[in-house]
Amino acid sequence: MPRNGIMTSRQILIVEDERPIREMVAFGLRRAGFEVAEADDTREARARIADRRPDLVLIDWMLPDMSGLELTRALKKDKDTREVPVIMLTARAEEQDKVSGLEGGADDYLTKPFSPRELLARINAVLRRTASSAPDELVSAGVLSLDTAGHRVICGDATVALGPTEYRLLSFFMTHADRVYSRSQLLDRVWGGNVYVEERTVDVHIRRLRKALESFDCDKYIQTVRGAGYRFSTRTG
Ligand code: CA
Repeated sequence: MPRNGIMTSRQILIVEDERPIREMVAFGLRRAGFEVAEADDTREARARIADRRPDLVLIDWMLPDMSGLELTRALKKDKDTREVPVIMLTARAEEQDKVSGLEGGADDYLTKPFSPRELLARINAVLRRTASSAPDELVSAGVLSLDTAGHRVICGDATVALGPTEYRLLSFFMTHADRVYSRSQLLDRVWGGNVYVEERTVDVHIRRLRKALESFDCDKYIQTVRGAGYRFSTRTG
């Protein structure tokens, strides 16, 4: 349901090691209708992003394992996460930090302390600014339709029940049909080349995806190519 013009299903990842601040921000965002994921260092942040790509990431400058600026740079360098908007949070007010933050690829920058209202206004502005201008497309493959605007896959009148990773995997396959992808290529394209994800993770999600497609008799679309990887094809038998 739209609220303040923003879909309530949007997810924001907060990367901040100071728990009181993280919880305060999370509380405000949930109240505004966002889904919230939390991470207290960059390692956890990357795992969260691999699991589900957020619609926006709030990154604190000072983090225990790596600076928020380095994380921002890494996300903006990776073709799979470069489109995800980043707002940097910092306790430092110096102009030089602001410049480095923006040069590092952050979409906006907010100095602590900030009010929840100010943060929300910045988030909404960044989301509006970075909203994809591409028209919502409906991709069809066999009896399945990919509804990118609705973030779901439809078969007839039914929505295929998919976890977030299975959805990303299936939407990748449907838009890249009839080509074989190795596990590492799928990790790159679907998981974003996350170093903490092992190749056998792909098999786990392929299994889940096939299971979700079984009742629609579409599990056969997900084909194992021995020694090479997986292929999505509606041409079977
Ligand atoms: Ca911090």
